[in-house]
Amino acid sequence: MAKVYDIIIIGSGPAGYTAAIYAARANLSVLMLQGYQVGGQLMLTSDVENYPGFEEGILGPSMMEKFEAQSRRFGTEVVAEDVIAVDFSKRPFTIKTDSDEYYARAVIISTGASAKWLGLASEQRLQGRGVSACATCDGFFFKNKEIAVVGGGDTAMEEALYLTRYASHVTVIHRRDTLRASKIMQERAFKNPKISFIWDTEVTEVLGDDAVTDLRLRNLKTGEETILPIQGFFLAIGHEPNTSLFKGIINMDNVGYIVPVEHTMTNIPGVFAAGDVTDHRYRQAVTAAGDGCRAALDAERWLEGLGDDADVHDWSPEAWT
Ligand code: NAP
Repeated sequence: MAKVYDIIIIGSGPAGYTAAIYAARANLSVLMLQGYQVGGQLMLTSDVENYPGFEEGILGPSMMEKFEAQSRRFGTEVVAEDVIAVDFSKRPFTIKTDSDEYYARAVIISTGASAKWLGLASEQRLQGRGVSACATCDGFFFKNKEIAVVGGGDTAMEEALYLTRYASHVTVIHRRDTLRASKIMQERAFKNPKISFIWDTEVTEVLGDDAVTDLRLRNLKTGEETILPIQGFFLAIGHEPNTSLFKGIINMDNVGYIVPVEHTMTNIPGVFAAGDVTDHRYRQAVTAAGDGCRAALDAERWLEGLGDDADVHDWSPEAWT
C-alpha cells in the first residue's frame, strides 16, 4: 500500500514552506511537491527589504533556501516535481506528477502566481532573445544596453531600478499618465538619472529577427506610432494565479484566484489554499507566509476532527467552523 501523507503541499513559495514548517512541527507527515520552479516568485527577486527579521535585507533565493531548510528540519519531505493532475473526488486525495502518484488525507494548494505577458506573438518569438519577465534572472545580459520595461506598478519600478545596474538607459513604458506604484518606489525611479518614462503608450510589437532591436509603440491618446530602439524588453505588468490544474474542481473568482469557503478551506473539505493563489490584493512574502500558517493550522484542526473514522465525520463545509 502506498504511503498516505497527512498533508501534501503543492507549491514551494513562502505560503507552502510556512505551511510545511507548521504542519511538520505538529508531527504530521508532510510532503511538499515543489514544482520545477522551486521557491516560486522570490527566486526571481533581488533584495527583500520588507520581510521582518532581516534588518539588512536578504536576497530572494537565499530567503527561500532558509525556508526550505527550516521546513526540512521538522521532517518535511520535498520533491521537485510538477503536479499534472489531482483527484479530489475521493479520499485519500490523489496527486499525480509526471513521474509518480501521491496520496494525502489533506492538501494545501500554494501554487502562487506567475508573471503576465502582453500576449504578442513577437514577444513570445523573442523570449530569451531580449524579451524577459525577470530582471534579476536576465539583467546581467544587458550590460551597457538600452532597455525598456513595460508597466506602472511596484514590480515595474523595482525591475527598472534593478536594471539600471547594468543598462546604459532604462525606458519605462506605461499605458496611463500616472503610476500605480507606491510613492517610495515612484520617487526612487523618478530620481534615477538612468530612467525615463513614456506615458499613455502601449507596445504593439517587439521587432528583431534573432534578437530584439526595437519596439513599435502606439500613443493611446493620439494614436501616433513610434519606434524605440532597444536591446532588452522586460515585462512587469502583474501576475496571474497558477490555478489551471484546479479549474472546475476548486471554486475560483473570474480571474482564477481560489476563493476559500471557510477560513483557508476550499469548497472541497480537506483541501486548503494559501498565499498568492488566493490573494490578488496584498501579494507579499510576509502575507503569503502568514496565510500558509493559517492553512496548516486549519488543516491540522480538520484532520483532528476527522479522527480515524472518516465515515462518521461530517464532511460538509458547514460542519467545519
Ligand atoms: P500591479 O500593481 O497590478 O501593476 C501592474 C501594472 O502593469 C499596472 O501599472 C498596469 O497598468 C500595468 N498593466 C497591466 N496589464 C497591462 C497590459 N496588458 N499592458 C500594459 N500595461 C499593463 O502589479 P505589480 O507591479 O506586479 O505589483 C503587484 C503587487 O505586489 C502590488 O501590491 C505591489 O505593491 C506589490 N509589490 C511590491 C514591491 C515592493 O514593495 N518592493 C515590489 C513588487 C510588487 P494600470 O496601472 O493602468 O492598471
